[in-house]
Amino acid sequence: MKITDVTMNLSAVSAQQYPEQGWPEIALAGRSNVGKSSLINTLLQRKNFARTSSTPGKTQTLNFYGVNEAFYLVDVPGYGYAKVSQKKRAEFGRMIEEYLTTRQPLKGIVILVDGRHQPTADDISMYQFVSYYHLPILVVATKMDKVKKSQYNKTLSQIKQGLDLNQTDQIQLFSSQTKLGREEVWQWIEKQMKH
Ligand code: GDP
Repeated sequence: MKITDVTMNLSAVSAQQYPEQGWPEIALAGRSNVGKSSLINTLLQRKNFARTSSTPGKTQTLNFYGVNEAFYLVDVPGYGYAKVSQKKRAEFGRMIEEYLTTRQPLKGIVILVDGRHQPTADDISMYQFVSYYHLPILVVATKMDKVKKSQYNKTLSQIKQGLDLNQTDQIQLFSSQTKLGREEVWQWIEKQMKH
């Protein structure tokens, strides 16, 4: 994917604020600190475009990044912050549910998990939650530069089993340090947008 233009178009907490161009969208979701900002920056070849959202209490919004004036990458705020209150969790749940259930241009979802560890309870809940909407899902295992190549197969089966991955969903190993998987993630995104 050749990136010719990137704009931080807007952030939204509810449907009235979503962009209206009708460009296809791919959402990216993952626990705080999983490496989502780094992945977005790697995909877009920008250094500090997406900022980490891991500060508890920070406004949690859906961020729409316009790419090549053709589509949006939608940054879903990080979940699983232990310090976040029940109320904030419920608000987060409503915001993402509203987005997933009403958003017609949404073509697929990338779920990030930390490739160094077993999927967590939060990862499993998010995967189950998103699976319910029958959108194509790509699970990206981040920080793979920290995992030995001889362990890659173990990582793949750990994720497959941990999430009880549907046969139609795929896994991609990724590192924002080495750019492992960057092209493959783009290929998956481009494929979803043709549907
Ligand atoms: P976010 O909260 O999900 O947006 O996560 P960030 O992208 O801010 O990354 C969280 C931490 O993980 C930071 O310290 C990053 O430097 C580190 N990190 C992110 N991606 C990678 C990666 O591919 N490899 C390594 N080794 N560290 C990473």
